[in-house]
Amino acid sequence: HRLKKYYPITGGLLGRTVGHVKAVDDVSFSIKKGETFGLVGESGSGKSTTGRTILRLLEKTAGEVRFQGIDVHALSKAELRALRPRMQFIFQDPYSSLNPRIRIGEALGEALLDHGLAAPAEARERVLAVMELCGLAPYHIDRYPHEFSGGQRQRIGIARAIILNPDFIVADEPVSALDVSIQAQIINLFAELQEQQQLTYLFISHDLSVVEHLCSRIGVMYLGSLVELSSRDELFAEPLHPYTKALLSSVPLPIPRHKRERIVLQGDMPSPANPPAGCKFHTRCPYAMELCSEQAPAFREVSRDRFVACHLV
Ligand code: SF4
Ligand code: MG
Repeated sequence: HRLKKYYPITGGLLGRTVGHVKAVDDVSFSIKKGETFGLVGESGSGKSTTGRTILRLLEKTAGEVRFQGIDVHALSKAELRALRPRMQFIFQDPYSSLNPRIRIGEALGEALLDHGLAAPAEARERVLAVMELCGLAPYHIDRYPHEFSGGQRQRIGIARAIILNPDFIVADEPVSALDVSIQAQIINLFAELQEQQQLTYLFISHDLSVVEHLCSRIGVMYLGSLVELSSRDELFAEPLHPYTKALLSSVPLPIPRHKRERIVLQGDMPSPANPPAGCKFHTRCPYAMELCSEQAPAFREVSRDRFVACHLV
């Protein structure tokens, strides 16, 4: 709720703070138990920072995060550590978070033992069970990370989260580095695990065609702010914010099943250190009016459970 994450910009000889990068600037949404909430936007829109701040892998600047009623950023280090197994993070590149000298079985077992979730004698059995759930054959248990393909490594990344028996997972671009054919397999794995393990996901992606398959509700971010929040079906049937329309019109679709205007965005996203005044999207918006550069549109409910920040909507 009203989450902010600012990074100070330092300058001059004394390294004083001369400004802030508003990576996440007053973002509010809720995720329902058992759903997959998609967060989309171009790179640099603040999606990852939002996901990491929700799990308190980053400290917030302002606002509040509640997980099952718990104020996550008010917890002590020990309390946060105790809660950690229940809320897990999956990285885009699991390889970077795997120790190249540790066998996969040990890496998975270590996570269990670290959190006191299994006795050493039971760990191997639990590792094998979770590997099977994630589509990894038992003989992989003694292999090293470099012996796996990209898709298998992401299965390992998923297994490492799942083995702690979490309730909530933030997955940050988990299929973006994979070939399209492998992407579908991993997306299916996410869906299967959700059903079997009653998981709730925050699924972060720059690619709307990826979130379409998995997410029931979608938030669209631009320069640190949510510009549209909607059910998947309504968003794809009729996007309301000009930025969402632009993102959707770049998704290739075989059949024109959606009511879409073709909008090609001009230019790059401005720097979050120096965002445009008024509506932050006005420098790239084909519908921009004078008002747009003067006044920021409120993020308001335009129909039931549908929120949009645009003067035209
Ligand atoms: Fe475009 Fe104005 Fe709407 Fe912003 S408020 S999205 S600039 S029409
Ligand atoms: Mg990112």
